[in-house]
Amino acid sequence: MKCRILRQCFFNADVAPFNRSIVDYHRSVIGPVRHGITMQTIQNYIDGALCEALSGEHLACFEPATGKEYASIARSDRQDVERAVDAATRAFPAWSRTTAGERSRLLVKIADIIEARAEEFAQAESRDQGKPVWLCRVMDIPRAVANFRFFATEILHSSTRAHTGMGDGLNYTVRKPFGPVGCISPWNLPLYLFTWKVAPALAAGTTVVAKPSEITPFTAMMLAEVCIEAGLPPGVLNIIHGTGDVVGSAIVEHPGIKAVSFTGSTRVGQYIARTAGEMLKKVSLELGGKNATVVFADADFQRAVEQSVRAAFLNQGEICLCGSRVFVERSIYDRFRDAFVSETRKLVVGDPTDDGTRCGALASEQHMERVLSYIGLATREGGVIACGGERVHVDGRCRDGWFVEPTVIEGLPASCRTNTEEIFGPVVTLIPFDDEDDVCAMVNGTPYGLSASVWTENVHRAHRVADRIETGIVWVNCWLVRDLRTPFGGVKQSGIGREGGEESLRFFTEAKNICLRIE
Ligand code: NAD
Repeated sequence: MKCRILRQCFFNADVAPFNRSIVDYHRSVIGPVRHGITMQTIQNYIDGALCEALSGEHLACFEPATGKEYASIARSDRQDVERAVDAATRAFPAWSRTTAGERSRLLVKIADIIEARAEEFAQAESRDQGKPVWLCRVMDIPRAVANFRFFATEILHSSTRAHTGMGDGLNYTVRKPFGPVGCISPWNLPLYLFTWKVAPALAAGTTVVAKPSEITPFTAMMLAEVCIEAGLPPGVLNIIHGTGDVVGSAIVEHPGIKAVSFTGSTRVGQYIARTAGEMLKKVSLELGGKNATVVFADADFQRAVEQSVRAAFLNQGEICLCGSRVFVERSIYDRFRDAFVSETRKLVVGDPTDDGTRCGALASEQHMERVLSYIGLATREGGVIACGGERVHVDGRCRDGWFVEPTVIEGLPASCRTNTEEIFGPVVTLIPFDDEDDVCAMVNGTPYGLSASVWTENVHRAHRVADRIETGIVWVNCWLVRDLRTPFGGVKQSGIGREGGEESLRFFTEAKNICLRIE
């Protein structure tokens, strides 16, 4: 009954506010689950051991491709967070005193074990998130391994500064880890983004209380098993499962948590910024996006089409960096639109375990409904659907899965809601432009500022436009090419702070200047 009422409200509302409904959905619909004999429980990892939530309650964990519940999740609350913070606090002095070499060896060991179990991780990630298994094999899991290896080796080569030449004083700076810290991550790239926070935190010498999304918790538990096998000391990493409004907020509000690294929606990011501001905690916020792909008439046409389709629909469009608004110079607009739609129609929507599948299932039923409601909004705003626009019912075991056709919409002004609000699914709009001034104004006309990609063969134009676009990242003639040393993050409502390379290590440490009197 509750479930029906919720669904009705959702459809009556214009479009649901992003993410609030995901949390409400979990709170209202799932509740404690019945235990089937084969149902696996996703447990917390506290003080070096896997354990149930103290309340003994559970949430249901669904396979998006089938719409079926396949595991149960420890439904933790403040008491579990309290235990985890205690464990992380006790572990901090010894962990922060380990040498970089000792931490490096452990993190490399974790990377090696994940790599040895890569296929198992890929299968688990796909089942939990809905994305194709092949994508987990080539992107999610290798990147999780790379996150550990990268920061394990980064700390072996980093250095601090000394200020000399004052005559009577020598100043040198040391960076001290502070801890414990909270790391909170979303459902779209579960292990990839979870480890993007946890690995640098551990490498920097701090201890961690981490929370993966309740929608995709599985590989975080597998990571806990890996940490136990690798011999990570108890309490150094603690992983707590449960809903964001209970477990996430308990982490953010706990006075023992000294900093919060968060990736997720702008709405939750705003709450974290307010709360952490009151408590004077350091925050890193990687939030939503409404990214642009800009194609000039002089671009390598074929490459621009292929890559802008990839940028729109990889991971079902559920990547914060996906290019969901494609601006095309008017002189090539019709030709580009036809080629773009034709490429999009080739994308096979289907069972994530099939190698031929290009778009898997959306991460939750509620998210699928939200994406479909945005397609409805686009039509009401006057948009024309060039292809897609419907839920897909895949044959066989996936007939009840949460699939949506890759959807291309045109005919909408850049300022409408469809073109300024984050949809975070397989929905893209095409918009013609006349010149650089015109396109830069439209690209910058959203509250977000995460990334953009620009396609042109004119290097001067590439520099000019990249300089004028208000985002933290601009790709030229490419998309999602990632060097882990580079600063990653957004401006405006896309976030505060930067991750990656030394930026991440700086976040989890504080500078201390020591001034020595010299004769
Ligand atoms: P979300 O904000 O709903 O949830 C993210 C995490 O925060 C989850 O673990 C959730 O349980 C937790 N959470 C929810 N409410 C909380 C609260 N009150 N206090 C503390 N934690 C809370 O986001 P989502 O739906 O999981 O992810 C989608 C969003 O993430 C999109 O907006 C997307 O753009 C963004 N995202 C951004 C980046 C980036 O790098 N900028 C990367 C991936 C995803």
